[in-house]
Order: sequence, then C-alpha cells, then structure tokens
Amino acid sequence: MVKVYLVNPHGFCGGVKRAVEILDKVLEKHGKPVYVKHHLVHNKHIIKDFEKKGASFVDEVQEIPNGSIAVFSAHGSPLEDYELARKNNLVVYDATCPLVTKVHLEAKRYAKEGYFIIYIGHKNHPEPKGVLGEIPKGLRLLIDSLEAVDKIKLSNEEKIIVLSQTTLSFDETKEIIEKLKKKFVNLLLPPVFDICYATQNRQAAVKELAKKTSLILVVGSKSSSNSSRLKDISIKEGRKSYLIDDVSEIKEEWLVGHENIGITAGA
Ligand code: SF4
Repeated sequence: MVKVYLVNPHGFCGGVKRAVEILDKVLEKHGKPVYVKHHLVHNKHIIKDFEKKGASFVDEVQEIPNGSIAVFSAHGSPLEDYELARKNNLVVYDATCPLVTKVHLEAKRYAKEGYFIIYIGHKNHPEPKGVLGEIPKGLRLLIDSLEAVDKIKLSNEEKIIVLSQTTLSFDETKEIIEKLKKKFVNLLLPPVFDICYATQNRQAAVKELAKKTSLILVVGSKSSSNSSRLKDISIKEGRKSYLIDDVSEIKEEWLVGHENIGITAGA
C-alpha cells in the first residue's frame, strides 16, 4: 500500500496570483496583443495558457513595438526598462510582486545613504537584474555562494548591507549571511529578511514532509527558483526528488520501492 502525502502550504503564492490577475484584466481591457516582458511567472502552463489568450512574451523592452500595451513580470525590472518604456510610449502595467518591490526600495534607499550593497542571488535570474539596476555600479556586488564571501575585497570601514533574492534557500542564505557577519563586523541586515514568506513556508513544510516520505515530487517549472530550491532541500534531507511540470513527466520507475511519497509545489 503506497501512501501519498500532499503537504501544506504548497503551490501558488499571493505574488503569482496577483500577477496572473493583472495580466487577465489587461487582456480583458485591451484585447490582444499584450506584450509581457519576461515570462510573467516561472510556470510553463501559465505561460502557455496566456499565449493562447493573446499574450506575447518577450525578453527585452526593445522588442515591444512603440505605443503598445505591456506588462512587466512578477520578478521586477530594472529602472532602465521603465525609462525605455516611457521613451517608447508603452502603456505599462506592473506585475512586480510587492515583496520584490520591497527589496528594490531597500536597495534604492541604502544606495542613496552611501551603503555598499552585497546582494545574494542567482546570476541569470531576472530578479537580481531588477534590484541591481537600482544601485550605482560601484556600490553593488552579486554573490551566490559561501565561497564567494572569501573573495570580497571591502574594508571594514565601509558601510555595508546585505540584501537577497526572495526565493533562495533560507538555510543556505543564512549561512552566507553568518559568514559575511564574521568578515564585516558592521554589516547591516535589512529590517525584514528578504526571502519571502511563501518561499520560507514551503521550505519549512518540505523539511517536515521529508521526515515521513522517501520520495518527494515537486510540481514546478525548471526555471522557477523557489521550486528548484524545494527539490534541492528534499535531496539535502536525504530523499529522492524530482521537479515536474505536470503528471505526464512522472516516470513509473521513479516510484518503485517507495511506500511513502510526498508532493509539494512551488510558489
Ligand atoms: Fe512574491 Fe515570494 Fe511569490 Fe516571488 S515567491 S512572487 S517574492 S510571494
């Protein structure tokens, strides 16, 4: 007898639901085409559905014809994207998650106050691109690992703050921050931790799930940072784990020998 556990919380967060609602309303109001800069959210099925409804996804603002209706994705965008949109007379609806906006505001505020900002995030993800775009070049550094801390050459005299992407592994980020705190005695932390509540809750829940299961299936797209972290955490907890977009990707051989199977889904 195989037991299947569906853990709570799992699945779409408030920021994703909000972005989906915004694009739905924009399509309803303006009809197609609506251009969306970057995938609205990192979920293959949502993107496919919106393509059918008339959304056109592009990587850069430059690709959007002048005067068009545009939606900026939930991951946030750099200042230069808004400037270019203004110049090209785009009508922009902003689907940036408010919790990402919070980090943008912190970055702006601390850069203005002369802080050097160490930002923990993934190089190729759009969220760091947006936040780093708020900070002058000489005042920012992107790091993504414990090892990277060793290479930072800043004096202890400088005003330094650490910010982070919202969807990282809570435990790994904490470790990096601890190491930074040892290296820079005056290191400032943001007033509220930048990893969002949805990411933290789902990570805590998957750790609990790992206590009673030997295999964990994470429903989410490969491009989704928080979904990938759920898989990483499951593996770190010693469980077999796979990231799947939907049920069609499950291979029967994965299930052999597992009596307790856990299911979660990315935010
Ligand atoms: Fe916002 Fe967090 Fe959801 Fe990203 S994962 S959209 S930051 S609530």
